[in-house]
Amino acid sequence: MAYHYDDQNIFAKILRGEIPNDTVLETEHSLAFRDIQPQAPVHVLVIPKGPYVCYDHFAQAASDAEIADFTRTIGAVCESEGLQENGYRIISNAGEAGVQEVPHLHIHVLGGRGLGRMLEPAR
Ligand code: 5GP
Repeated sequence: MAYHYDDQNIFAKILRGEIPNDTVLETEHSLAFRDIQPQAPVHVLVIPKGPYVCYDHFAQAASDAEIADFTRTIGAVCESEGLQENGYRIISNAGEAGVQEVPHLHIHVLGGRGLGRMLEPAR
C-alpha cells in the first residue's frame, strides 16, 4: 500500500514548533505530550518524529532505531506517569474504521482511572 503523509497535519505542526504542546518526554526519534482533550486523568500522546501516517506504515517503513526509540518512549511514559501499579491502556487509531482524527501516527497512553471495557458494542 502507498501511504500519503500530509505535512500540514496538527502533529507535524507541533513537531516543527509551529504550535505549542505540553511535552512529557522527548527523545531523538519520538515526542510524548499531553492530549489537549484528555479522556482520563493521564492521557499522553506518543508520536514518532518521522512522517508516518499510522502504525502499519511505521512498522513497514521506520528504521529499527526509530522503532526501538518509540517503543521505549511509550514504556518510559507509563513509568514517568506512575501507571505501572494500577494499569493503563494504549490505543492507536488508524483510518476510517479506527476513527483516526490526526493522520500522523500516535499512541494514546491512558490511565489514572478505571478505563472500562476495551470497545463499545457495535451499533
Ligand atoms: P485520534 O482520534 O486521531 O486517534 O486522536 C487524535 C487526538 O489528538 C485526540 O485525542 C485529540 O484530542 C488530540 N489533539 C488534536 N489536536 C491537538 C492539539 O493541537 N494538541 C494536542 N496536544 N492534542 C491534540
